Amino acid sequence: MLTRIKTWLTQLFRILSDWLAKKRFAPIAYLLTDMRERVQDMAGGKYGQQITTKKRGIIAVMVEDFNVMAETAEQIILSATNDRDRLSIVLSRMADGILVLGRDMRISLINTAAQRIFKTSESKAIGRSFIEAINDSIIYDILRRCLDSGFQQSAFVETYARQLYLGVVATPLQYNQGCILVVQNLTEIRRLEMIRRDFVANVSHELRTPVASIKALSETLNAGALEDLSVSGDFLQRIEVEVDKLAQMINELGELSNIESGNSSLIKKPTDIAVLIKKVANRMLAQLSRNELKLVVNTPEVLPEIKLDQERIERVLLNMIHNSIKFTPPGGQITISATVKADSVEVNVADTGIGIEPDDIDRIFERFYKVDKAHSGSGTGLGLAIARHTVEAHGGIIWAESARGKGSTIYFSLPITD
Ligand code: ADP
Repeated sequence: MLTRIKTWLTQLFRILSDWLAKKRFAPIAYLLTDMRERVQDMAGGKYGQQITTKKRGIIAVMVEDFNVMAETAEQIILSATNDRDRLSIVLSRMADGILVLGRDMRISLINTAAQRIFKTSESKAIGRSFIEAINDSIIYDILRRCLDSGFQQSAFVETYARQLYLGVVATPLQYNQGCILVVQNLTEIRRLEMIRRDFVANVSHELRTPVASIKALSETLNAGALEDLSVSGDFLQRIEVEVDKLAQMINELGELSNIESGNSSLIKKPTDIAVLIKKVANRMLAQLSRNELKLVVNTPEVLPEIKLDQERIERVLLNMIHNSIKFTPPGGQITISATVKADSVEVNVADTGIGIEPDDIDRIFERFYKVDKAHSGSGTGLGLAIARHTVEAHGGIIWAESARGKGSTIYFSLPITD
């Protein structure tokens, strides 16, 4: 619109100035030429052009009007530019993805978040049709419905190719000019929600078995077995075992929740980890010999001191050794080693046990994950999850390696800090 006015004014000034020059109205002709040049400058983007004249009367009024018009035009353009810049900052900082599409579904705007979500760029998306640039048929249908009906459409969409869970809202623009698509990336929120749901399901599942056993045993005792001394002792012992299992699970759940919520701070002390390993190994000697397992401790003479929470790291090691004992048949060997790396100390517990399948190896650090639920004995499936949190809280990492049937090695490394 503004450009058309400028073109029109330029032409008008040219005709008038030519005519006036011919008619010997030179000052007016000069003025009009000047005005024409200023209008051309404005058309080229140099707004706010001003002209001056020493003339009075109608010419002075004309000059004044021209200057006011030029100044107003500059202000309008400036304020439009400011609005556009502000809008583009807001859009680029928004966490939600925004796309503006025309009636023909061509993308005219895509903000940074949308580029991130759909793994594209402005240059690849602008001017292209939605299906060409984003290629998501479910969202395409939502946009189509929005454009056809003229009403807002919203949905939750699972994009398998990109493995995302998105909340999308398509709103029609005024005068049937297209629509605006708002995309919320809910993938992480849904993942956390699923973890929470799984957690509650797992806890109730894990609690059910010992509680059901205690109930059955106590009912049997109540029904008369209490008088039968040949069985009552055994029943009471089994109740005790189940209660111990419940107590262990409650303790471990409490510990896990404390670590996860960041409520339990570490009490770190400079520690020679070789001393800690020997202490833990000594505690396990009786259990190892009961299970006919050989223990080897492999630590270098000199190890740099590490600042760590001794009680917690002891528990990590105990859990790893307990697991090795549980999953290694009699006659096997368990080796605890420590090695110094560039900026960390690496500790591992290796056994000659049943090993872990490749598919399970990364999952053993998840809460309640047990490879073989029926044969993992008294385990709760929480030990390694707690170990992972503890090691990570120390700035370290934990991982496992295993060869099926040949044994497993669980590693953790802790950073050496000054
Ligand atoms: P649990 O209390 O059941 O031992 P963990 O979290 O300590 O729970 O271990 C999770 C699962 O990882 C175990 O149930 C077992 O299936 C597997 N696992 C851990 N350590 C070993 C190992 N040394 N050998 C074989 N499987 C293991």
